[in-house]
Amino acid sequence: MNFLRINIVIFLLTLSGFLMAQVNKNQVKTIIVDAGHGGSDSGAPGTVTNEATITLSVAQKLAKALRTEFPAIKILETRPTTAFPGYAANKDAANKWRADFANRNGGDLFISLHCNAAGRRPGGWYEKRVVGHTNQVRTVKKGKKRVKKTIRVPIYEDFWVENKAVGTETYIWAVGKNDQKISSVKNNDDYYSEETETSDELQLPDPNNPAEKARMLIYAQHYFRKSYLLANLVEQEFTNEGRTSRGVQQRNHKGIWVLQATGMPSILIEMGFVSNKEEEQYMKSETGQEAIVKNIVKAVKGYVEKTNIAVEQAPK
Ligand SMILES: [Zn+2]
Repeated sequence: MNFLRINIVIFLLTLSGFLMAQVNKNQVKTIIVDAGHGGSDSGAPGTVTNEATITLSVAQKLAKALRTEFPAIKILETRPTTAFPGYAANKDAANKWRADFANRNGGDLFISLHCNAAGRRPGGWYEKRVVGHTNQVRTVKKGKKRVKKTIRVPIYEDFWVENKAVGTETYIWAVGKNDQKISSVKNNDDYYSEETETSDELQLPDPNNPAEKARMLIYAQHYFRKSYLLANLVEQEFTNEGRTSRGVQQRNHKGIWVLQATGMPSILIEMGFVSNKEEEQYMKSETGQEAIVKNIVKAVKGYVEKTNIAVEQAPK
């Protein structure tokens, strides 16, 4: 009979299934909101609060705002309380749990919230400088005798160094041939940032391991561009808000390990410097937190619109 027709029908059904899958793959159905740190890990210290406290508060507000803005999208939180995510035993286990939670729930976007820090101390610190010299008479031993000797000694003055590092930055996992350059981090010694946190348990992807290499290739092909798109939109919104944007940072180090462990577009937002008194106050305040949440929601909205349009316009 009509084998040909049946074949055509099967072909069309297969094709439409494939196209649906393509559309669904690009449709954002689940967003993972991740409050950085928690449990015994309070993150970077401020003068009156710390990173873990700020990230939790902003994450809770962000999850709520995303649910209102996108009623059809499932919004999940890795860390809804002050405890480690999944009540993990330590920081590394907590990060593994974060990635596992995002993957197991089929997340389409992973947004991790953090605060930056720089300098010797939050707020600022005293340093000494030489402002002149003076003569001092001291008694010194010369053989068996004690003699007086005039020496020149510096006069020191304490001066206050304000911790001025300021601004937002959004991290994405770096891919491609620039890895070497990218992993050489811009930091000076005083810079805190996520990458200074040492970790024994978490391993960076090993390019000599075929499975790991394949996984990174999937990231490069499917998630990198989207992560970059969202990161740019976030920094753009911060700029529009009048914040200082330090831009999108492409890195691969243990501090942002979670970004490559999540099989989805993922970004890590440094919402500002908790070590800067003014930015700490901003990130701690209701108005500051509401502005940050508004900025991120707007960026996600732009992302959802852009990725959906890209799918509809694809000539396939
Ligand atoms: Zn952090």
